[in-house]
Amino acid sequence: MLRQRDEALSLNERPWNLVYGCQPVSDACKSCVAHERLARFHVNAGRSLQASARHQPVVVQAALTEPASWLTPQQVTVAPLADLFQPRVPAAFITQVIQVIADHPQHFFHVTTRYQRRMRELLGHAQLPDNLSLGIAAEDAASYAERVPYLFDVPAVWRHVVLEPLLGAVNVESVELPTRDILWPLEGIVQQYLGLDGDGRPQWMPKSDPLRRYEPLDWVLLGGERGSAPRPTHPEWARRVRDACRDRQVPFFFRGWGDSVITRKPDLDDPQLVIVSIDGSRRGRGAGSAINHLSVADSDVYFTRLLQGDEPIQFYLDGQRYREAPDFGRRHARLRLVDVSPLARQLVERIEQGEAPSGPTTQEYIQSDGGLRKKSIAGDKRRPRRSHTPSFKAQIAVAALQGEASVADLSQRFDVHRNQITQWRAQLLERASELFDGLPEKPGRGRR
Ligand code: SF4
Repeated sequence: MLRQRDEALSLNERPWNLVYGCQPVSDACKSCVAHERLARFHVNAGRSLQASARHQPVVVQAALTEPASWLTPQQVTVAPLADLFQPRVPAAFITQVIQVIADHPQHFFHVTTRYQRRMRELLGHAQLPDNLSLGIAAEDAASYAERVPYLFDVPAVWRHVVLEPLLGAVNVESVELPTRDILWPLEGIVQQYLGLDGDGRPQWMPKSDPLRRYEPLDWVLLGGERGSAPRPTHPEWARRVRDACRDRQVPFFFRGWGDSVITRKPDLDDPQLVIVSIDGSRRGRGAGSAINHLSVADSDVYFTRLLQGDEPIQFYLDGQRYREAPDFGRRHARLRLVDVSPLARQLVERIEQGEAPSGPTTQEYIQSDGGLRKKSIAGDKRRPRRSHTPSFKAQIAVAALQGEASVADLSQRFDVHRNQITQWRAQLLERASELFDGLPEKPGRGRR
């Protein structure tokens, strides 16, 4: 995912240039400089870029050793001059990259893609390290709705969204899936569609009883377009995203207006003048164009070309800078299972000796399906809504903590989504201490 001139995601990441060059995939790619960087890479290597190799990425195998040479912990943007998941990057290389990330837990890595299908194809069943944040980039409502569901279909510990260059209004809060269920990315839930009521109106289950639950999006970043003919971002589009993030307490980072800047006193002879409507139509460009003859709506905004020296103002949205970021260290520590293994052992003891919610033992759950797997109703194409007892959830969460079977294995055996198991495991860890509240120590077992 190319970051244009800025190779860092939120100003302080270190670029890890593993791939040069990229195949365009959507409207946002028009202003991408991947090709320019690829050409420079070839020139630096003493050769020119052949026209036939224009979209042929170069994979830098030697760069895989770089993280080992960084002496202090780093925040890292992976392949900022390309898209790691583009079709011509070999799958084996991507596997190596993930392995290198896992091997360097002292660093934290960010991977962003517009090739969401390939991301899921390669990582949908992978055990992903918790020092990796996966993200999709989107430029408008359609690309967001298409890509963000894939992000939730990969068992990433951290997820982010980059809306850059933002070319239209985006409802970041909800996305209707092909099944008509609704994904709420900022809340991490899927709301189940129930069908039409007697009056033909669509009905959904209440959000308080979700069909699936995930970790909510961890981070949203937004920015305008750069390049020789930037298409500006309307401030209202940015405000809506900011306000939605604020409501759901999702960190929001504003990366600036790109190479355009809002002008309150438009010069109609300015050849760089652009007017942007809230519905996304751009009303023309510069002197002599239709811009001079159109009536201008109150919500229309004039932009002109960013000049040298204007850079500081381009990072302000409504007079404020937004540079929020998640506390990556917090969940990194929370999900480190080795830290909680003594607690997990105590929980297992208590559950198996009948002191916690009853049900088959962990081993019984793991060794057999126990008749627990719910079958789809014949002829019903929709997956039935799942309802699990607290005891079942606790047993699965403990099994995941114990590591007797991988999350993927448990998911397959009990027909529970991996993300659901990860969620239960996290909930168990967060609330584990409540189980011991007010309970006496077991007789004959002193404190260790
Ligand atoms: S996918 Fe990203 S890196 Fe590739 S061409 Fe598009 S904007 Fe550039």
